[in-house]
Amino acid sequence: MIVAANFKTNHTRESTKKYIEWLGNYLTKNRVKTRTFVFPPATALDDYERKNAEIDVHLKVGAQNAYPVANGSFTGEIGVDQLDEFAIDTILIGHSERRHILGETQEQILKKFNFYKEQNFEIIYCIGEPLEIREQGIDAVMEYLQTQLNGIDTEYEELIIAYEPVWAIGTGVSATNPQIDETHNKLRETLKMPLLYGGSVKPQSAEDILQIQNCDGVLVGTASWQVEQFIQLIEIARKIEKN
Ligand code: PEP
Repeated sequence: MIVAANFKTNHTRESTKKYIEWLGNYLTKNRVKTRTFVFPPATALDDYERKNAEIDVHLKVGAQNAYPVANGSFTGEIGVDQLDEFAIDTILIGHSERRHILGETQEQILKKFNFYKEQNFEIIYCIGEPLEIREQGIDAVMEYLQTQLNGIDTEYEELIIAYEPVWAIGTGVSATNPQIDETHNKLRETLKMPLLYGGSVKPQSAEDILQIQNCDGVLVGTASWQVEQFIQLIEIARKIEKN
């Protein structure tokens, strides 16, 4: 099971440090085996895993975004050199906020994917349809998701896919369990990597979502920003894992 926290543009360097210490202590003390990821903002990246012996190998801190270069003249961006400084080898690619708010095209996303794959990064690759596509039914949804998977090397061993419907992200309206079930089952017909669901997951909804057969974990925004709530989600995942 995988539980991942996306801080988006929340938390400072100071508060991220406290969050990761708290989380690391909890994971270590309880010998948690659930794979846990935290994606803080770029200014809060650090080599937490190396610096804090309490942090278990099951916690990975990753980048929410980076440009597909080692370095260069790309004002406002960071590349591999800046990530290497903190031993970051995990990245989120294709998040809907980058696609729809920041205008990242599928072509740019594919470039980023190929580049970070070449660097052997573990990639959480996000896909998801807007509401008008969901309203047309499952065939339209699958066709849309396929356009976001075209050209992506789905055999890449360090790849996790997160299905995150655009209309469910940050809205408080999660996809229904049958919608997640149907979509993940269809994805599973051709994809063998872990499949996460993301979109307004809360501790109250996580248990049912994590029981869905082809759901291997959750990518969580809002409900991950308070460490206590994120730990509640990890506890739910652990309980299900044990059964
Ligand atoms: C996300 O940012 O990937 C996400 C799923 O956000 P939220 O949980 O707030 O919907």
